[in-house]
Amino acid sequence: MFNIFELGKNYGDNEVLKSITMRIDDGEVICIIGPSGSGKSTFLRCLNLLEVPTSGQIYYDGTLLDDKLDTKRLRREVGMVFQRFNLFPMFTVLKNVMYAPMHVNKMKKKEAEELARSLLAKVGLANKADAYPAQLSGGQQQRVAIARALAMQPKMLLFDEPTSALDPELVNEVLTVMRDLRKEGMSMVVVTHEMGFARDVSDRVIFMDKGYIVEEGAPVEIFNHPKEERTQQFLNRVL
Ligand code: ADP
Ligand code: MG
Repeated sequence: MFNIFELGKNYGDNEVLKSITMRIDDGEVICIIGPSGSGKSTFLRCLNLLEVPTSGQIYYDGTLLDDKLDTKRLRREVGMVFQRFNLFPMFTVLKNVMYAPMHVNKMKKKEAEELARSLLAKVGLANKADAYPAQLSGGQQQRVAIARALAMQPKMLLFDEPTSALDPELVNEVLTVMRDLRKEGMSMVVVTHEMGFARDVSDRVIFMDKGYIVEEGAPVEIFNHPKEERTQQFLNRVL
């Protein structure tokens, strides 16, 4: 669970996040929508300590994220899936998924392999264990990336536009895996342009623009009855 107070992030003079206050509860699925450049990726990266906030506080399970927090623990518990899959190209699919449990969590090889095979089955890729990433489609690579994130047995997953780099016909296979995770109760924060997914799957939708949370609420409120002019304009452009 995250509690975020007045989070700000600047790059030089560019104020990218301006006083973001929100909480993310365990078991929640939150979709973040908004125009390009509004700070969505920066926000996710702050949650995972890939960026250092300029101002404000982020608490993770009651602990302030600062120098004293164990970054390794945070990254183990809060996984991230990127737009570009970033698989290790020289490793097989199986090895990609086994790598972090073995090298970060010090899991025994046999146990890591069992875990990796069960996760590959979960994302529908049991038969691709011995393939190399370059031999897979983008949708398959992204499903491996999700299995790899799950291999750390995280409490929460952050997704940054996980389907934006995919050909349209490959988007659904990835969204289906994410829907399954939701059914299992995984906490997820998903930056996405897939409005259908945001509407069906999320508990809460956050609309960001120019570094602010402009509006947030249940999907039906945001999509059917947006209160803010800027939300309406954005939805009119993308829907
Ligand atoms: P979004 O994900 O909503 O498209 P980003 O968080 O990627 O938005 O970017 C928000 C703003 O921050 C943009 O103006 C972008 O150019 C700037 N920005 C993002 N990352 C960096 C960086 N590492 N250094 C400098 N500027 C950055
Ligand atoms: Mg982004």
